[in-house]
Amino acid sequence: MYHHVKKLMYTVRVGDPDPRFGKMLLEQFGGANGELAAAMQYSIQGLNCDDPARKDMLMDIGTEELSHLEVIGTLARMHLAPLKNLKNKEAAYADPLIAICGGGGVSLNNSQGNPWTADYLKITGELDVDLRNNIAAEGRAKIVYERLIDFTDDSQSKEALQFLMTREITHMKVFSMALESLGKGKFEVGKIPPSEEWVNKYFNDSTGEGELGKDATGPWNTGGDWEKVDNPAFKGLGGK
Ligand code: MN
Ligand code: MN
Repeated sequence: MYHHVKKLMYTVRVGDPDPRFGKMLLEQFGGANGELAAAMQYSIQGLNCDDPARKDMLMDIGTEELSHLEVIGTLARMHLAPLKNLKNKEAAYADPLIAICGGGGVSLNNSQGNPWTADYLKITGELDVDLRNNIAAEGRAKIVYERLIDFTDDSQSKEALQFLMTREITHMKVFSMALESLGKGKFEVGKIPPSEEWVNKYFNDSTGEGELGKDATGPWNTGGDWEKVDNPAFKGLGGK
């Protein structure tokens, strides 16, 4: 069950409200890598999880993300507040949709005004795959926060965003360790093993020598188990 506590997880203050920045903050409110998406992704994964220990962790983080939603929503609303006054034309022009339809409040849209959608969520019902998704989701959220921090000069806004950004790295750590604790191999997904015949072949699908450029090599295609197959399209590897 959920219980609402009447204070924020992190106290939010804004020195200088900037409606354009408020609109950018909506990316973390109703956007693809935002807090609602995170809260729903982890909570729904938690509902699907049969392992009680990891279910508890998913529900804990899902719940914390709801608290982040409250923090980012409060911060965005403070920046959007000048849009409440339609006589403040310069502010209202920053976003007519928020000013006229939303009365200067937040709604579940991203920074471009596109509505939030459950299509943002990655829920497979396979715990290790979901945890990999979550690690990537936290990385995306972290980088969006970092860009938002770089975009504002308001030191108090920066502080709140720094807190939210930091917690995403904490979550990344939790999900990584939960994945590790499953004891699966690095490339072990599901139950059916991959075919030996194909799994270690790197298809070099570009002709890139001489005037056409140069093929790159690295640990992703050279050494170890790798077998490099040049120009597979011309080697009869396809079906009949
Ligand atoms: Mn978060
Ligand atoms: Mn997070």
